[in-house]
Amino acid sequence: MNLQKLADTLIPDKDLLPIERYEELYPPRRTEKGAEVTRLAPSPTGFIHLGNLYSALADERAAHTTGGIFYLRIEDTDEKRKVDGAVESVIRSLKYFGVNFDEGAEIQSPLNNYGPYYQRQRAGIYRAFAKDLIARGLAYPCFCTEEELDKVREEQTAEKLITGYYGKYAKCRNLTEEQIYANLAVGKPFVIRLKSQGDTANKMTFRDRIKGDITVTENDQDVVILKSDGIPTYHFAHAIDDHFMRTTLVIRGEEWLSSLPIHIELFKVLGFEMPAYGHTCSLMKVDGGTKRKLSKRKDPELSLDYYRKEGYYPLAVVKYLMTLLNSNFEEWSRKNPLLSYEQFPFSISKMGRSGALFDIEKLNDISKNELSLLSAQQMYDFLNGWVQEFGTETDRAHFADRAYVERILTLIMGIGGKKRRKDIERAATAVKMLDYFFDDTFAPEYSYRFDRDTVNSVLEAYCGVYDPEDDNQAWFAKVKSVAASAGFAAEMSEYKANPENFRGSVADVAEILRIAVTGSPNSPDLCTIMSIIGKDRTLTRLRVAMIK
Ligand code: GLU
Repeated sequence: MNLQKLADTLIPDKDLLPIERYEELYPPRRTEKGAEVTRLAPSPTGFIHLGNLYSALADERAAHTTGGIFYLRIEDTDEKRKVDGAVESVIRSLKYFGVNFDEGAEIQSPLNNYGPYYQRQRAGIYRAFAKDLIARGLAYPCFCTEEELDKVREEQTAEKLITGYYGKYAKCRNLTEEQIYANLAVGKPFVIRLKSQGDTANKMTFRDRIKGDITVTENDQDVVILKSDGIPTYHFAHAIDDHFMRTTLVIRGEEWLSSLPIHIELFKVLGFEMPAYGHTCSLMKVDGGTKRKLSKRKDPELSLDYYRKEGYYPLAVVKYLMTLLNSNFEEWSRKNPLLSYEQFPFSISKMGRSGALFDIEKLNDISKNELSLLSAQQMYDFLNGWVQEFGTETDRAHFADRAYVERILTLIMGIGGKKRRKDIERAATAVKMLDYFFDDTFAPEYSYRFDRDTVNSVLEAYCGVYDPEDDNQAWFAKVKSVAASAGFAAEMSEYKANPENFRGSVADVAEILRIAVTGSPNSPDLCTIMSIIGKDRTLTRLRVAMIK
């Protein structure tokens, strides 16, 4: 058969470059030895999830801890799944978590010498190489219809055979020249398939940078490389793009492991050196006692939007993911509390080989800890950012008074005290914690443990002695005096010795005041709260709180 003629007939494009030219156009990168070039290669579907961030962080760390490059390639070969604005949304979402690209689609960078970074714009490269494979007898046109392929699949399934287009099932593999041209003459649509040279009897050991040594069986499937619309399949585009974009390390989900034999063969027939691979394990969660994969349908926490809407501190999410990526990160962090996670010696080979267990409680703990390290100003900025985007009108009005909010935060966070408090988990809950400091959101639940006369006498007595100028000591002395005048023990020791002589202790008096002023029996230092909300508000609340 005249293969060159066949190649020219099937791919008649006039504007294709000779394939050697592509090597010159996209030469090996001039990075240092050991520098990793990694990429994130999402389809622009608009849904970016925690698994993507997990992978992207591994890519980014692998590149940036070795002086390499992390770039963004958009795998938009499936037009139907494309969503407008999806690329910007990937970039924005990752940026929010501090994961930045050096190069790629929609990235302004002088490094952008390996594009275009959208697969749809790379048709020429794929077609040039498909044409070359046809001319070398390593690819051929296949005219089988969907129905024919379905029939073959059913037959194979019934016979419990591996499904697919291979061996005797690869019908178009052996078409004669006449048959091919006859099909073309009647305008039958065709795809281009790889003419596999492999044999499943051959096994080899493959070193995966995450999974370690794995046994791989040679590919014998004549996979499609160009679809009938001339667009490449993932397999073909992967080999061409990762070669010409000079990726050194492909980090991708373990669902691709089963296609690895196809990729090994493609790199071989194309004459490209293979990059290294690291197949990441899936994120799992414990649900009703069993482990399962995080699911888009069942688990809102899979979506990255969830973390933004709930107001998670981005650094906390990243640090949590680091603990999942490298199990020694936690200990390193403990030993180096002042260092940034970027200084951690990240290692791809230390990544877990099987399902990483996602535990939101642990994320919450890390989040509380990270947030407790902020200054009141930093906390204000963080919360205010969230309030502006996700808060209510009322929240925004509250946050307009920066000085007031910062005073509250200083108190809530225990800044200036002996120990920082770790009560703030995320912006959505933190903003609620401020509610009682503002009249329009003060919604008390008066859950007193004493009868009306007792409560009223305490509140009445306190109104009589309250002085907003009192410092902490003077404030407490007054609470004690109120205790004594209302039949409570002013000292805890007195109360413990003879509880029957008193209505309660000074702690109970403080609780009555606390409920009156904050609406709840639990709050940070009451004296400071009174000073923050001020004299008028304090007195009004004490009066309103008396039981009628
Ligand atoms: N577009 C593929 C995906 O989203 C990329 C896989 C890869 O990283 O090679 O699954």
